Amino acid sequence: MILMNDFKAEPPELLEAVLFATRRVLESGWYVLGNEVLAFEQEWAQLCGVAYGVGVGNGMDAIEIALRALDIGPGDEVITTPMTAFATVLAIVRAGATPVLADIDPRTALLSIDSAVRCVTQRTKAVLLVHLYGQVRSMVAWQSFCEGTGIKLIEDCAQAHLATLNGKVAGSFGAAGAYSFYPTKNLGAAGDAGMLVTGDELLANRAKCLRNYGQSVRYQHPELGMNSRLDELHAAMLSERLKWLQKFTCRRHQIATLYRSGIQNVAIRQLDSPEEDSAHVYHLYVITCDQRDVLQAHLYERGVQSLIHYPVPVHHQASCRDIKRDAMGLHASELHSDTCLSLPCHPQMTDADIMQVIDAVNLFRVD
Ligand SMILES: *Cc1c(COP(=O)(O)O)cnc(C)c1O
Repeated sequence: MILMNDFKAEPPELLEAVLFATRRVLESGWYVLGNEVLAFEQEWAQLCGVAYGVGVGNGMDAIEIALRALDIGPGDEVITTPMTAFATVLAIVRAGATPVLADIDPRTALLSIDSAVRCVTQRTKAVLLVHLYGQVRSMVAWQSFCEGTGIKLIEDCAQAHLATLNGKVAGSFGAAGAYSFYPTKNLGAAGDAGMLVTGDELLANRAKCLRNYGQSVRYQHPELGMNSRLDELHAAMLSERLKWLQKFTCRRHQIATLYRSGIQNVAIRQLDSPEEDSAHVYHLYVITCDQRDVLQAHLYERGVQSLIHYPVPVHHQASCRDIKRDAMGLHASELHSDTCLSLPCHPQMTDADIMQVIDAVNLFRVD
């Protein structure tokens, strides 16, 4: 079976390096908020092209902390997409703010500016832009959307590790970017980890305070924060894995290129190509098909695993039925959730695997 992720197939040198880093931390006797975290924060921030990185417990907390550090909370509205990981919306709710869902552009599955414009009210304080599947797109338009209105741009970069548009990296376009290093992300730990990146020193300092019980100096708590620290073990592992990220992203690009040209089937639609190659890091390779569930079963029979991102749009979740949304509805999101399918696209795939996926997709016939 060609899997969606295959960590056991990773290069043995990578495992060796991670084990070595683990040993380094265990022997140091220092496990929380130490030099490993500092080093990884600095390296990741630099790669993102911003001055500050704040290591946190996970990607969802990175979003919540970004919102809270920007003083966005009760009474404030945050516009985002229903076509995302549930954590995106949950982070807004956890910050005490009100999520407002705008529809997607069906060609990319990214948030639609036209729909977002319809969602703006006096209470709108931020747009939480999700770089879905690894795509960074239309950033000039989003920046001008926010400009002059006081609306903050916050980026959910959980799927877009170092995706770059016009020389700018995901996380550097707005007030803050939130990264997740969940194991299956393009850069992943062996558990939960995340980081907030920002060019704003005050915001970074506030985030550091919030992740650590709202503590400013030892035993002084000017704020009611949370416990969301990146630990030394994960920071050390991530530093090692980071050395492989460029190579792994390059392999994702090769797979995507082969899929885009190789998949030729009238029953299958592809999403738009990125504005430039570097602006998509192919965390997921997504196609759409009207008979999606039949296609998924067909692929499974031919040894190809696939997943759906996402089968239930946020406003159809039992906990979110009354969520605020574009008055014109979220039809493109609903259609996308019924038709989208993510094909295996990970760095451990062999050329034969890629061909097997393409052949299986091309063999699909609608009765
Ligand atoms: C994974 C993911 C998150 C949540 O990250 P965690 O580290 O699991 O909390 C948020 N947003 C998106 C788009 C994601 O893919």
